[in-house]
Order: sequence, then structure tokens, then C-alpha cells
Amino acid sequence: MKSAVVLLSGGLDSATTLAIARHQGYEAYVLSFSYGQRHSRELDSASRVAEALGVKSRLVLALDLRAIGGSALTGDLAVPKRRTAGEIGVGIPVTYVPARNTIFLAHALAWAEVLGADLATKAGVEGKSRFKIHAPLIRMTKAEIIRTGHALGVDFSLTWSCYEPTPGGRPCGLCDSCTLRKKGFAEAGLTDPLGYAD
Ligand SMILES: [Zn+2]
Repeated sequence: MKSAVVLLSGGLDSATTLAIARHQGYEAYVLSFSYGQRHSRELDSASRVAEALGVKSRLVLALDLRAIGGSALTGDLAVPKRRTAGEIGVGIPVTYVPARNTIFLAHALAWAEVLGADLATKAGVEGKSRFKIHAPLIRMTKAEIIRTGHALGVDFSLTWSCYEPTPGGRPCGLCDSCTLRKKGFAEAGLTDPLGYAD
């Protein structure tokens, strides 16, 4: 069976990417990172998503990006709240983690080399190496991603998007990630199974 390394954050994009890889007949080797993010909720979600969709193996690598800083997701900067989708689309947000995808991709490539696997990532590059890098979501809107995941049976209640959960562990409903997720579900005409605090 053909195999693929899939980057899985626990969010709905990477959950859909994993579902696509499984649907295409890949045996999935799932890679997640503990990189010093503010909360561990997304790693719990990644674990549940991996279990639900069926993976051959799962690896969680620890990389402390807090030492580099420069992001509200790994540092002390405040997470922006109550911005519109239009405002979110302008400039680089403070929740951007410098070179995160490049760093993740480098580790995924290393594992793919060991496994002799292809590589699925939500924001990859076209490779000319002996690995094929798949980025199946790259031209999809959030609504299209949600529709695709839904059609492939992704249980979105297992996924996590919020940057700053409430003390009770619910999505805040106000951060950029919650705002884009809500907009995506609304445009897809589907109901988000996660309840929001706001
Ligand atoms: Zn949120």
C-alpha cells in the first residue's frame, strides 16, 4: 500500500487533508508538533482525529518555538479578538508563527525519507525530489474544505481551531481562527458541532 506522511494540527484543514489521503488509499503516518503553543487542546484534537480516521502511526515531535518567539501563539502577545474576516485578511497577524510550515515540512520530509512515503500537507510546495508533496486544500476556500471534509466523514466535533479557549475549555468564538471557522461553516451551509462561548 502507498503511504503518506500527513501533518496534523488538530484543526479542520489538516483533518480534511488526512481524510483525503485516506480516501485516496494512502496509509497515513501522522505528524504533529508540540511547539510551545499556548494550549494543548489542539494536540488532544489531533490525537482524536487520527484515531477516528485511522492511521498507521502517529508521531508528536517536541520543538520549542517559544525560544524564537515572534508570535501570539507561542509568546505573551495578546490574541486579537472581534476582527472581521476582511480585517483578518490584511497583513501578517500576530498569531503567525515564523516559518512554522517550513519547519514542520522539513521534519515531515525527514520522516518521509525514513518511511519512503509521500507527503500531504495543507500548505506545501511542489517538490521535484523523489517524494511527491500533496497540498490538496491549496485552492479551496474554508467553506469548500468544510464541505469536502463533511463529505468524507470528518467528525468536526473532534477538531479544534480556537487560539484562546475559555477557562471552561470552549472555543472563544472571537479570535481570528474562530471567526474564519464560523464563516466557513455558514458559507458551507453546515452547522459547526462545536459550541461557542460567544
Ligand atoms: Zn477562538
